[in-house]
Amino acid sequence: MSEGILVVAQRRDLRRRLFDVFDQAGCRHIHCARDAQHAAILLEGRQPLDLVVAVLGDDASQARHCAEQLHALKACDGVRLLAVLDEEAILQPAQLPGDIAGWLPAAQIETELLALWKQPSPAVAPATPAPPAGAAEKALALLARIFASSGGSATRDATARLLFDEMALDYFAVWPLRKDGGEFHVPLLQLWSGAEPAWPALESQELLQRVLDGEVVLYGDDAQQRAPEDALLPLLELSGFVGLPLLDERRVVLGAMLAGTRRGFDGMAIVEPLLRCAAARFAQGLELGLTREQGRAEGLIDALTGLPNRLLFGDRLESILREAVRNGECFAVLFVDLDHFKAINDTYGHAAGDQVLQEVTRRLRGSVRASDTVARYAGDEFTVVLRHIVKNDDVHKVAEKILQVVAEPLVLEDGTRLELGVSIGVSFFPDDAPDAETLLKHADEAMYAAKREGRNTWRIYEVSPEYAREHGMALRSRLRHALGNGELRLVYQPQVDTHSEDIVGMEALLRWEHPELGPVSPAVFVPLAEETGLIVPIGEWVLRTACRQAHEWEQRYGLRLRLGVNLSALQLMEPKLPATVFRALQETGLDPALLELEVTESISIKAAPNLVENLQALHRMGCGIAIDDFGTGAASLDYLRKLPADRIKVDQSFVRNIGVDPDDEAIVRATIEMAHRLKRTVVAEGVETEAHLAFLREHACDELQGYLFCRPLPVVSFERLLSERQQLLGLAADATA
Ligand code: C2E
Ligand code: MG
Ligand code: MG
Repeated sequence: MSEGILVVAQRRDLRRRLFDVFDQAGCRHIHCARDAQHAAILLEGRQPLDLVVAVLGDDASQARHCAEQLHALKACDGVRLLAVLDEEAILQPAQLPGDIAGWLPAAQIETELLALWKQPSPAVAPATPAPPAGAAEKALALLARIFASSGGSATRDATARLLFDEMALDYFAVWPLRKDGGEFHVPLLQLWSGAEPAWPALESQELLQRVLDGEVVLYGDDAQQRAPEDALLPLLELSGFVGLPLLDERRVVLGAMLAGTRRGFDGMAIVEPLLRCAAARFAQGLELGLTREQGRAEGLIDALTGLPNRLLFGDRLESILREAVRNGECFAVLFVDLDHFKAINDTYGHAAGDQVLQEVTRRLRGSVRASDTVARYAGDEFTVVLRHIVKNDDVHKVAEKILQVVAEPLVLEDGTRLELGVSIGVSFFPDDAPDAETLLKHADEAMYAAKREGRNTWRIYEVSPEYAREHGMALRSRLRHALGNGELRLVYQPQVDTHSEDIVGMEALLRWEHPELGPVSPAVFVPLAEETGLIVPIGEWVLRTACRQAHEWEQRYGLRLRLGVNLSALQLMEPKLPATVFRALQETGLDPALLELEVTESISIKAAPNLVENLQALHRMGCGIAIDDFGTGAASLDYLRKLPADRIKVDQSFVRNIGVDPDDEAIVRATIEMAHRLKRTVVAEGVETEAHLAFLREHACDELQGYLFCRPLPVVSFERLLSERQQLLGLAADATA
């Protein structure tokens, strides 16, 4: 039985996204190649493949050439080739070679690639839909467009049945969800075969209601038995029925897509992916439509200041929150309220008030990074989101800066001099609240506290003891059992050489598989483990597990990869740390030279007894020391002078702003230069884009770690990576022998 997927893409980020989709779907053998030549090397001596997915360049002749090359590879013989068009492609689907089984734009990789893969190859070329005339024809034309883009077709046969590729439907509808006033609008699209029936009331369409509640309905040929209450099924004599909720990015239901046949569906395995693919497209269309509609109704940008308004801010905050949950990042929400603005308006008039708001906007924007968000929330209220914060102190500094710049005298056009002040309230994610609404509420409460305390100051939201207890206690008590219950595991993220891009090391990163919450980021639970002292036994487990794994890989692949292990402040203060590390090395057989302990720069040397002694002892033992999150603490230079560090890890918050914030670029450049002068090597963390890579290469950063190359991988995936690399090198050596 053949198995394996080949991904071919010049652009590394597309290669990675394609890989991630298949990897997350549990595919075992995914080969990633830059081009057809590279693919040929990877596939040498392998079983034939299931699938080839290729990003086929951006002009027709290039695409044709690449497709021919891929077809010529023996291993791909008779295999389906799917094409992905990258965002910049000017290529029209019609210009793609005819033997490509399907295509999709790069923006839809995450939502539709799997559905497209599982869909059977279309036997016939898409038929051209009849020119749109009535509503039904318009609906059909829309459907045809949607299906043609995934290589399928939608037409009607002589009896007016809808044909999706080979599949015939007697009913097809898309309903948007409208909650306002409880009333539905008309369906977005409704097609049926036969004469128009007297449609049943919506409340009696049980299946529609269930799908709008988020349920997936898949009935092959017994729909009427399974949903006897539904009024639509007997009316249209449907026996096969599929209902799919249309979900937005947040998995909120936007509508329903329904499909039914009289004959029943032959095989769900074929029908389901095709319809799911259609549902994804409709959901996207609906989401876009809804956003536009809201945008038009209210306007997303504030006309006076040009800032996002409350609506757009809400949307941004939600997406920032989702990203933070995924990556375990912290951010802060600031509520900034102008003091005595009403008095200014009343005394000097609205034109003066407008000038004040515009000037405050300018000053606020100048106080935050380009990647932060500033919005006009209401009248004289502004909101700010500060992202990717490492420690609360950074936020305090920004709040201070805002107070200062706003306090500088402001001269109106008519020469009037005004002195302004603001009151600022701050709340933190995830410490203060898990959702956007509560975060804003807390920041607002803190702002009122600042006003009560005399204005022109800032306050941090104070969590009530009850809330803290409820919120933290549950996690803390579960965490106590996580180690014993086997809920902890390690993932490994490769570090690569900047020039060869070959793997030179890896960092072990801890994950907690919470039985209800799913994977919890260490950024959330490590602080809890520190508070309770649990980090000491957990840290020991991490050391032993990672060293054992590294030793095993060293033996199996003959590769001396450096292993980075994070140590927390509490571990670093333990007098018995060197003994613990020594034991872990002895028990597992790992060479001390391969172990590198990472110490985050936010630990104060003064406040951590034993820190310097411990690190010196570890260094004498032969272990490496890396300073993690470099640049975020106040004592970078102190660290370099006092600690025996071999390597510096430039924090991701700076790397992320390469190409965005010149100040952060300067910090990265200066850090690399300084480290090299002191004979330390430099690793950049959080390398996500080609632009980051180009900059770091130009400035001679030694090693790189980040999503651009690889996400942290579970053990099996990491092994796959190593064996693929081995095969590639083996073949290259054979070729030159
Ligand atoms: P860190 O040591 O600075 O680890 C790097 C973090 O950056 C990891 O987050 C990694 O998944 C993430 N990362 C890597 N590349 C990229 C990228 O391109 N973009 C973005 N946005 N993120 C990237 P993770 O695994 O969530 O770990 C967070 C922090 O938790 C670590 O920061 C470390 O301080 C701590 N931690 C992780 N494992 C352990 C452990 O075993 N013991 C202790 N004490 N702390 C740990
Ligand atoms: Mg680290
Ligand atoms: Mg770091």
